Amino acid sequence: MIRNQTMTSDNITPLIKLISPLFDEYGITVYMKRDELNHPYIQGNKWHKLRLNLQAALAQQKTTLLTFGGAYSNHIAATAVAAQEAGLTSIGIIRGDELEKEPKKWSITLKQAKKNGMVLYFITRAKYRKKSEMLSQLEQQFPQAYIIPEGGSNTLAVKGFQPLMQQIECQCPDWTHLFSAVGTGATLAGLIKYAPVRVNSPRKILGVPVLKHGQYLSPQIKEWIDETHVNPWQLLTEYHCGGYAKTPDYLWQQKQCFEQSFGILLDPIYTAKMVYAFYEQLKKNKIQPDSKVILLHTGGLQGNQQN
Ligand SMILES: *Cc1c(COP(=O)(O)O)cnc(C)c1O
Repeated sequence: MIRNQTMTSDNITPLIKLISPLFDEYGITVYMKRDELNHPYIQGNKWHKLRLNLQAALAQQKTTLLTFGGAYSNHIAATAVAAQEAGLTSIGIIRGDELEKEPKKWSITLKQAKKNGMVLYFITRAKYRKKSEMLSQLEQQFPQAYIIPEGGSNTLAVKGFQPLMQQIECQCPDWTHLFSAVGTGATLAGLIKYAPVRVNSPRKILGVPVLKHGQYLSPQIKEWIDETHVNPWQLLTEYHCGGYAKTPDYLWQQKQCFEQSFGILLDPIYTAKMVYAFYEQLKKNKIQPDSKVILLHTGGLQGNQQN
């Protein structure tokens, strides 16, 4: 693999127009920002979130990236690859100690992370919940490690979305709606923070939390945005489809239908729910004629191949 070459900010990804009689009927134009194509292994938003963190780790002469996640975490998979490409080692603190002795039950994500050199430590769910209390202990135990929070979400991660927003602005300066899936909210915060405000064209940024009760993310998102003059934004909290990683039949059907119509694969955890939310908003007449809607593909396809 080529060291240090792929984590630059200039991987431009295409903005594709989605052609459908339904969109004509509503008089809107719909695009997908194919950001899952930005890196072969660290797809989509996890790449933007890691980029500046990796640079910071190198600047601080750290030799390891240490982070946290569940067995299906796209961020765990991404961190292992990013570290390896930069010539660093990586450590993953994984939720669920029951997996430690049963490598056969590991998800593809964990197997792949290990293959990419990540050293995995499994801890109990109770301990994982209190992981912030472990930080000083981890710093002592691994002084050479640059510690990245769960999901890769911190202020440098948020800042990582500036080049993406610049690309979108160049590719479609008159967009009116931007849809993105939401986990921790760092991605959404970055989009909101760096989307230019245009006086004469109202635009809206819509986040679709994939967990139940997504409203709780609002204060943290506001803290990350740290700006007053931003476009209107909203969390659409009713499209979690039962909760994190819950994938009811209607979601699968819609995912398949979308994939077959446009030849673009989605992941069931994040991007399928974002697309679902968009269609529901459209059917509820929440998107006015002449709107130019951008659906952000945040990646996550590595999680599609489970075991
Ligand atoms: C992690 C992830 C998200 C959520 O990103 P946050 O910054 O945590 O909100 C969205 N889409 C995909 C594909 C992801 O892997």
